[in-house]
Amino acid sequence: MRVVLATGNPHKVAEIRAIVRELDLPLEIVDPPAALPPVVEDGATLEANAVKKAAAVCRALGMPALADDTGLEIDALGGAPGLRAARWAGPEQDFAANVAKALGELAGVPAERRTARFRCVVALCMNPDAAPLLAEGRVEGRIAEAPAGAGGFGYDPIFYLPERELTLAEIPAGEKNRLSHRYRALAALGEKLRARG
Ligand code: IMP
Repeated sequence: MRVVLATGNPHKVAEIRAIVRELDLPLEIVDPPAALPPVVEDGATLEANAVKKAAAVCRALGMPALADDTGLEIDALGGAPGLRAARWAGPEQDFAANVAKALGELAGVPAERRTARFRCVVALCMNPDAAPLLAEGRVEGRIAEAPAGAGGFGYDPIFYLPERELTLAEIPAGEKNRLSHRYRALAALGEKLRARG
């Protein structure tokens, strides 16, 4: 199935392409158009936002579309920023400002209470008038005391994996793409696609 990606984030495009290849999913990924239809991500859940993004592109381009929506849940902050992770520090999606806000809010919080997880929901819209396929993936970790690493994007420099003793930005891209929330969501989507035959 040819599927257009419903995201303007080049990091997500690269990761999703690599993961789809790694998982050998029956999807031929088409890059998003330069101008995506405008979508206000005001849904109450990651699912709602992922569906909104995928359905808008599916309708506009008349072909299947795949979107992801990701949230960061920090336990010591009552689950914040949650699905508002993109614009937590202000209206501009500013990765450095978001990282600084997370570190500031967690100042003085000991390592064992800095637990957090990424939750990713992928939506595959095959027809704008039919229910999309949805799947979720999570990765558990901790918010580091300081940023480390230059890989990945977003909150990766402060998302520490205790079992690897590295942040997501410190591990090689290929490895992130085999353990990430996005990988797990796409693996679960692959199971659903296979079950449909
Ligand atoms: P959204 O899915 O584009 O709404 O992403 C929400 C926020 O989480 C954005 O600020 C992203 O940069 C960040 N984010 C999404 N996926 C990742 C990831 O794989 N690593 C780190 N940050 C991410």
